[in-house]
Amino acid sequence: MKGRTGSSSKGRVSYDFPRLTLLPGLIDTHVHIDTHFGKSGKATREGETAQESMLYAAENAYAMLMNGFTTTQSIGSPLDRDLRDAIARGMLPGPRLLTSISPVRADTGTPDQIRQFVRQVVADGADVIKLFASKSIREGGDQTMTDAQIEAGCDEAKRRGKRSWVHAHADSAVKAAAVAGCWAVTHGSQVTDATLAVLAQRGTFFEPNVGLLLQNYIENKDRYFGIGNFDDAGFAFMEKGISVNLDMFRRALKVKGLKLLMGTDAGAGAHGQNAREIVYRVQQAGQPALDAIAGATSLAAGGLGLNDTIGSIAPGFEADLIAVDGDPIQDVTALQRVVFVMKGGKVYKNVAAGPQRARSF
Ligand SMILES: [Zn+2]
Repeated sequence: MKGRTGSSSKGRVSYDFPRLTLLPGLIDTHVHIDTHFGKSGKATREGETAQESMLYAAENAYAMLMNGFTTTQSIGSPLDRDLRDAIARGMLPGPRLLTSISPVRADTGTPDQIRQFVRQVVADGADVIKLFASKSIREGGDQTMTDAQIEAGCDEAKRRGKRSWVHAHADSAVKAAAVAGCWAVTHGSQVTDATLAVLAQRGTFFEPNVGLLLQNYIENKDRYFGIGNFDDAGFAFMEKGISVNLDMFRRALKVKGLKLLMGTDAGAGAHGQNAREIVYRVQQAGQPALDAIAGATSLAAGGLGLNDTIGSIAPGFEADLIAVDGDPIQDVTALQRVVFVMKGGKVYKNVAAGPQRARSF
């Protein structure tokens, strides 16, 4: 089959990469592909047409693909669906895209109304169901949805053959999601050791964001400040949040069997820098490089329910391959030096230093 590894030997092209390391294409399980700095330079769409918004999203898609991310999951916006389908047609360069389209919130309604909403989002083409079970970190992160609402959202997703992805900072919200059988929990900044153990026991994927999200907001403070909850109190929460998250992640590393996914929650300014999350996990939190890379490849593919098609280099899998300059096991920053990107057997980038021998045989 075209675009898959281990297929026909006729007309096969071989690429030799001395000093480089070949990896499966990287996967970011949590981005917001539509977010960008708009006309005013700020992180807002003010004064923008729908067409302009889509083009900004396409730019983010391109930036991520060029930096080695061949699959991303956007958590999520209605705009994502058309972008996902356009990329899938094969001409617009971008990562394979999955999306939650519209999220379930506390005010979506009763458990029955939430089930109805989930069925609608699935009918609209969602790949995954997002639940906002707690407030934003900029507002303290308290649980917002009741346990019954969380259970209804995740159960209905499962009944429709979809995964659920739960935004939760408060420990109680993380625990409720795990107990309800939700697929994955993101953020988890206030999670306790006891609840981390519950996540591991229940097999719930955990996708914390420690190395890029808050750092990017703070680095671009002037471009965010004044928008919604990006106020003085919000930035104070975020500045404290960096060390809180680092401590949380170090505790998570000690929990045996916890399925730690790589996700950045990338917003405006962060797309293309996604690998910073992996580098931070290794350099600052002490995660073994091989585990951190698995969190962005083979394990991440499992987190997306795609572990029989992507995330590994194996016969029959999609030919999503990247080459990086150096050995990321010895020096994880090699992941930020992506010199070759192939997605579905198509080469999108090949800037390896020195002469390349591409021969047919
Ligand atoms: Zn998010």
